[in-house]
Amino acid sequence: MTRLGVPEIEADWALFLDLDGTLLDIAPRPDAVRVPDRLPGDLAGLSQCLGGALAVVSGRDCSTIDHLLAPFAPPGGFGHGAELRSADGILLPDSMPVPPAAWAESLAALVASRPGLLLERKPHGLAVHFRAVPDEGTRVHESMQRLAATRPADFAVLPAHMAFEIRPRAATKARAVETLMAAPPFTGRRPVFVGDDVTDEDGMEAARRFGGLGLHVGRDFTGGPAQVRNWIARAVAHLSPDIAHAQS
Ligand SMILES: [Mg+2]
Repeated sequence: MTRLGVPEIEADWALFLDLDGTLLDIAPRPDAVRVPDRLPGDLAGLSQCLGGALAVVSGRDCSTIDHLLAPFAPPGGFGHGAELRSADGILLPDSMPVPPAAWAESLAALVASRPGLLLERKPHGLAVHFRAVPDEGTRVHESMQRLAATRPADFAVLPAHMAFEIRPRAATKARAVETLMAAPPFTGRRPVFVGDDVTDEDGMEAARRFGGLGLHVGRDFTGGPAQVRNWIARAVAHLSPDIAHAQS
């Protein structure tokens, strides 16, 4: 069954969901996002309907994800896949490089010199947001490229929504999909990856390699994150009428 061209969620799917721009509307600053009241409960309910095979795959770090979605603490790939958490809540050991402290200092100086720029320090990455000063995008990109070029085997600069980010080259959303699909409750399910950004495309490709789907917020979900949230709420009601009734 389809509605607006997007297939409805099936009980044998494994869902991989990006956060910002997919589940949450983009905010002027990353710390200003608003989490709709019912979203954590809907995600937890849907996870139950899917046997626990619902993951969040985001550029944000694990502790921020847990803060935003509390009390739901999903498995997933955080820091674009640098941090992985399995369905039983175990953080998998990682061997990802950490950007040198000197890079953070250099970017902090850049940000301090240009009001409106914002530096976000993550466990495995450094992001500079220029949404408030779009003209600074090129300068930010060049500065980050210069830093990452000193360790090209380890780090790459990636574009995000009005931001650039230095992150470990090996940290990808595909890695999160591949790792989670290798173990229960994900193994054997049809992976469906929903994202809105260039950093989601390798996750979508990985889902397709496992016989699944990649759905794009914009091209497929033309109604943006609100449409994704409605799609999830509808699936909770369809796949688990007893849960939906108990909560209403
Ligand atoms: Mg996104």
